[in-house]
Amino acid sequence: STAQIGVTGLAVMGSNLARNFARNGFTVAVHNRTAAKTRALVAEHGDEGTFVAAESAKEFVDALERPRRLIVMVKAGEPTDAVIDEFAPLLEPGDVIIDGGNAHFEDTRRRERQLRERGIHFVGVGISGGEEGALLGPSIMPGGSAESYASLGPLLEKIAAKAADGTPCTSHIGPDGAGHFVKMVHNGIEYADMQLIAEAYHLLRDVAGYSPARIAETFRAWNRGRLDSYLIEITAEVLAHTDAATGRPFVDVVADAAEQKGTGRWTVQIALDLGVPVSGIAEAVFARSVSGHAALRAASAELAGPRATPLSGAEADAFAAQVEQALYASKIVSYTQGFHQIRAGSEQYEWGVDPGAVAALWRGGCIIRAAFLDRIKAAYDARPDLPSLLSDAGFAGEIAAAQDDWRAVLVAAVRQGIPVPAFAASLAYYDALRAERLPAALTQGQRDFFGAHTYRRTDREGSFHTLWSGDRSEVSTD
Ligand code: NDP
Repeated sequence: STAQIGVTGLAVMGSNLARNFARNGFTVAVHNRTAAKTRALVAEHGDEGTFVAAESAKEFVDALERPRRLIVMVKAGEPTDAVIDEFAPLLEPGDVIIDGGNAHFEDTRRRERQLRERGIHFVGVGISGGEEGALLGPSIMPGGSAESYASLGPLLEKIAAKAADGTPCTSHIGPDGAGHFVKMVHNGIEYADMQLIAEAYHLLRDVAGYSPARIAETFRAWNRGRLDSYLIEITAEVLAHTDAATGRPFVDVVADAAEQKGTGRWTVQIALDLGVPVSGIAEAVFARSVSGHAALRAASAELAGPRATPLSGAEADAFAAQVEQALYASKIVSYTQGFHQIRAGSEQYEWGVDPGAVAALWRGGCIIRAAFLDRIKAAYDARPDLPSLLSDAGFAGEIAAAQDDWRAVLVAAVRQGIPVPAFAASLAYYDALRAERLPAALTQGQRDFFGAHTYRRTDREGSFHTLWSGDRSEVSTD
């Protein structure tokens, strides 16, 4: 037993993760249900470090130093349970099973509970960065016990991406499902970021009248400013790309129906359960859904509405500058909502998640990495109990400066018939939070009218009901 870590499940993610460990000087035991993949990995990349190829589960387990650390990188869901069932009987108390797949955090909680009874640590780890990240340094979100992090953390810190200041993009998120929960919210924020960028593109195309190449340049310029991020960078690459077959902009030959694997949907489902308004993420999930309803869209093509008339010259450029403001302000709102969900999950499940540490480990390796995350980290470092990112003076000030343009962009979108659900939801959230009075008072009145659901008053403690079908006098219901 010589291997410090083992990886079972050697599709793209598992292979690249195993290679990352090997390249960082760890001896890595490798295993896959179909042994040919194990042999292929060692044949192709054996020279990158020290691999111990294991054909059977027993060989794999025997190859590992104790306490054993074995990473499962198989398809999420039943295959993960099947692999755990196969390995758990071969392990001893104190060993650590790490699930690096995209598991639902409730599954992680269940697995952790079951394995804990047998003395085995189960660590659900969210990994972001795709194939390339797995190989060159992902952002890693480990849950599980503090004890398991003491054993596993140093290895993860070695293979994780490093932020600009050199800090590894990983830290212990909290017990049981905390890591997978935070990874889920990461993906939700990723959906919102992508949708906001898509809406900005749509406006630059149809309202500013810019070509895809010109929009690519615009995104490149934005990427040198406060929007500096991986997603803005790749947006410019995609927009600048020309389709080889037709010579047309690539973005014009791709079918406009966005697909999804489900983590964005989970984020919204869980947010609904926790009662957290993640309206920007929800609109992003629904926008993909709308795009995919081909028959519905075809049947609606003749519906009345304005046709966008593009601006030109200085007017177009001035509008583009306003879109940057709208994008930035909406992005602040998305992160505000995402961090609210992390806080709510942490409270519900008693995880003690440090939001500043989450912002810190998203600074490198993951899909939503952005210069902006340094600012979020600083906001939480200055005030760990910050009730909302919008209550940070820095962000509030930036939104205050952006809001006139943000509103102007929405007005233009509405006038010209361009759908901007995520921009609109973000502004509505902002305005709702700052409203002195919300029409929720009327909603409470209606609920009391039809269902005797009672209401509270602004001027007195207690709960009340009006006898709507009687003499309309008020009774105390305490
Ligand atoms: P896949 O999700 O395609 O899974 C393929 C692997 O699962 C193969 O090694 C396969 O073995 C194994 N497997 C499937 N069913 C079983 C089973 N019943 N018993 C044993 N092994 C089984 O691989 P990826 O590398 O794409 O992803 C791995 C995990 O990482 C997934 O949970 C994914 O969601 C997650 N992830 C993926 C990212 C990505 O960018 N792709 C990013 C972050 C996380 P065999 O070769 O024998 O078929």
